[in-house]
Amino acid sequence: MGRIVGIDLGTTNSVIGVLEAGRPVVIANCEGSRTTPSVVGYTKESELLVGQLARRQLVLNPRNTFSNLKRFVGRSWDELDENSLSVAYSVRANDQGNVRITCPATEREYAPEELVGSIIRKLIDDAETYLGESIESAVVTVPAYFNDAQRQATRDAAVLAGIKVERILNEPTAAALAYGFDRSSSSRVLVFDLGGGTFDVSLMRVSNGVFDVKSTCGDTQLGGNDFDQRIVDWLAEQFLKKNSIDLRRDRQALQRLSEAAEKAKQELSGVQSVPISLPFIATGKDGPLHIEANLDRSKFESLCIDLLDRLLLPVQTALSDSGWSSDDIDEVVLVGGSTRMPMVQQLVRTLVPNQPSQSVNPDEVVAIGAAVQAGILSGDLRDLLLNDVTPLSLGLETVGGLMKVLIPRNTPIPVRQSDVFSTSVANQPSVEIHVWQGERQLAADNKSLGRFRLSGIPPAPRGVPQVQVAFDIDANGLLEVSATDRTTGRKQSVNINGGSNLNQDEINKILAEAKSKANDDRRRRASIDSRNNALTLVAQAERRLRDAALELGPYGAERQQRAVEISMRDVQDLLDSNNLKELELAVSSLQEALFGLNRRLAAEKRTDSNPLQGIKNTFGSLKDELFSDDYWDDDPWDYSNRDYIDRRNSPRRDLDPWDNDIYR
Ligand code: AMP
Repeated sequence: MGRIVGIDLGTTNSVIGVLEAGRPVVIANCEGSRTTPSVVGYTKESELLVGQLARRQLVLNPRNTFSNLKRFVGRSWDELDENSLSVAYSVRANDQGNVRITCPATEREYAPEELVGSIIRKLIDDAETYLGESIESAVVTVPAYFNDAQRQATRDAAVLAGIKVERILNEPTAAALAYGFDRSSSSRVLVFDLGGGTFDVSLMRVSNGVFDVKSTCGDTQLGGNDFDQRIVDWLAEQFLKKNSIDLRRDRQALQRLSEAAEKAKQELSGVQSVPISLPFIATGKDGPLHIEANLDRSKFESLCIDLLDRLLLPVQTALSDSGWSSDDIDEVVLVGGSTRMPMVQQLVRTLVPNQPSQSVNPDEVVAIGAAVQAGILSGDLRDLLLNDVTPLSLGLETVGGLMKVLIPRNTPIPVRQSDVFSTSVANQPSVEIHVWQGERQLAADNKSLGRFRLSGIPPAPRGVPQVQVAFDIDANGLLEVSATDRTTGRKQSVNINGGSNLNQDEINKILAEAKSKANDDRRRRASIDSRNNALTLVAQAERRLRDAALELGPYGAERQQRAVEISMRDVQDLLDSNNLKELELAVSSLQEALFGLNRRLAAEKRTDSNPLQGIKNTFGSLKDELFSDDYWDDDPWDYSNRDYIDRRNSPRRDLDPWDNDIYR
């Protein structure tokens, strides 16, 4: 099996890790950072940008730059709240009620999964560069509280990136794996994971390599972004009162406000008060308008009281589901950048008296855990066992719209559960299986995962036919439902993907399009790369020629200098005429010529202290014969005609009056 990587696909940042020599490590991206902003953008010329480059154009090109995409993954339009929609780009519902993101630059609409797929592709590309091998599969993490549709959609995003998902892993479980994979003691751990857009809490027992998740709870629409939004609103309201302009209606101003708010929030984790300065944020009747404000920590905290309250309930629910009290908890592991906020840390301390563990980096811990899980799956890590649970109850709709739960929340996975149902009217020829996920009594208050019909039921009085419905949840937390008519043996089964934004046809279409584009992209990239390489080499050649002139004088290594000059001119001509076909050959000739010159320079250095050097430089024209490189060192390259000549077999070598040895 090839190498499997671990991917933490965050709302704000994403991280990729891998197991190296038995230890999980984070792979830096090609920009040199260990975290990659989860931002995708298109330039005005429709060029795709991912990560830091996309993030950089957030303010200047807000309609074509997409952040916080995770909030839309696997969610239908009806499920989105106002907060999720307060983004600077356009989001709309398509005919099926699925979320679509509009990109004016490419004149196309994208499913969120498609854009998230580009983030995964970038992470994989960077990892392939680092590892020097191609990667086909990954462990991808999701918030533990993601429902089935969100998990399916995450998997679709990976498929669109050309990656096989070996396992969908819950983020807090990944964090616990990272925390406990090399500890032998037994402890009860509470993982408190507040990232950019989601919140999870999980309780688990970690004991000698066995990770038993007891319970999990959370909120997939609560994270650091909501805290930023409070600052945005505070600034925008003040501005509105003073200038009667709502900055939130101006995409660029909104983007600048959001960035300033996030920066202020992060700084307030370290200091008590921060200045916020946004010059030229709008234009009023009398000219440009600016924001100059000061935000102190207590004011910020007062703006976020209800957000803190929303963190309480999931912790209490997870504790009560696990059957543990807060005193039973041995360790609290803080995960996600938002746990750096002092008010969040204080809240955690009031819930569980222990000092939170600081031994793991909250930004990287999930990717590290994913890499550990990848190691378990590939067989590189043994003696580790992970028992996870399903976060939400799964069931189907019965008479009166009630939800009949088949698999209660926090059931260890994988799991299979079945029950027998019957018809509600006489001679009913078919039954509809409508699958729901959630904790409410009425099915309609939960999340619909999909429906299908089992037909061909023989006529019978009400309540007589026996339809066996089975729910299967695999280790990824993904559900398959089947229904069998016990009388006829007729069976119908489906993978539930009702909430995923893309159907299989759409996925295939996008994949085909990406494939054809990939070839174009590869060609374009190859030509850019070869031009860049050639330019770099020319610059290097110019430097070496200067060095040679300084170190050896104009006649010092005439043949090699001339060879470099000629090759360099060839390369430059081909660059000017954009003749990429012949450029490669010319570049390798220049490389050879430079190699010869470098060797010559190195040989000169070795002989610098030799008294014969002076004589050598004085002889001038005689030099080519007596002091030719072919005699002075073992250089087998003749650059004057750029043919390879092995001088060791040349009879001239026997005539060499200056045995190399005496110069060494
Ligand atoms: P993650 O998903 O773990 O990358 O977390 C990203 C979230 O953490 C974003 O909302 C960041 O603004 C937030 N964050 C990062 N560093 C800090 C900090 N020092 N104080 C407060 N929030 C932070």
